[in-house]
Amino acid sequence: MSETTVINLQGVGKTFEGPAGPIHALIEVNIKVGTGEFVGVRGPSGSGKSTLINMITGIDRPTCGDINVAGEHLNDLSENQLARWRGKNVGVIFQFFQLLPTLTIIENVMLPMDFCRMWKPRHRPERAMHLLDQVGLADQAKKLPNTLSGGQQQRAAIARALANDPPLVMGDEPTGNLDSKSADKVFYLFEDLVKDGKTFMMVT
Ligand code: ADP
Ligand code: MG
Repeated sequence: MSETTVINLQGVGKTFEGPAGPIHALIEVNIKVGTGEFVGVRGPSGSGKSTLINMITGIDRPTCGDINVAGEHLNDLSENQLARWRGKNVGVIFQFFQLLPTLTIIENVMLPMDFCRMWKPRHRPERAMHLLDQVGLADQAKKLPNTLSGGQQQRAAIARALANDPPLVMGDEPTGNLDSKSADKVFYLFEDLVKDGKTFMMVT
C-alpha cells in the first residue's frame, strides 16, 4: 500500500444473517482513497452505507476481503487493538451526534484524549477549548449537550472527532438531522478539514 493511500478495501463483502435468510449488505467492494481526498458516498436507505462506514472504522468486521486503513491491516487486529487504533486514527461523526449526555461539551471533547492518553493531561482542556473555538462553540464549553441546538451538538461532535488529530474523519449522514443552514455550516467545517490535509469520507 502506498503511503498516500489512507483507505484501501479489496474484495470486501459483508453478509448478515437475517430472520428470512442472509442479507448481502456489501458485495465485492473495492475502494482506494488517498490522503487529503474528500469523498462522498451516496445511496438509498438500506444500500449498505453504514455497513461500509463500520468496516472502514473497524466498528464491525467484514465477512470476506481485506481492509487497510491508516497504515493498518484491520483484519489482523484484536478488538482491543482496534479500539486503540480507531481512537488515534479515525474521527467518526454520526447522524445523532452521540455526545454523552451527563458530560459537559468540553468533557465530551476531552474523552477521546483521556481514552487514548493523548497529549499531557494538563494540556487537554486547552486543546479541547482550541477545537471548540474552531467550530464556533468556545462559549458553550461548560454546558450540557441537551442545552445546545442540533447544529451546535454536531459541531461539538466534530470537535470531539478531531480530539486526537486523526488523519481520517468519517461521517455517517452527519448532516442528516440538521436544518439546511446548520448543515451548510457543518459542511464548510468539513471543507476546512480537507484543507488541513485530513482525509474525509462522508455518506449521505
Ligand atoms: P444504509 O446505511 O445504506 O441505510 P445499512 O448499511 O444500515 O444501510 O444496511 C444495509 C443492509 O444490511 C440492510 O438491508 C440492513 O437491513 C442490513 N443490516 C445492517 N446491519 C444489520 C445487522 N446488524 N443485522 C442484520 N442486518 C443488518
Ligand atoms: Mg445508514
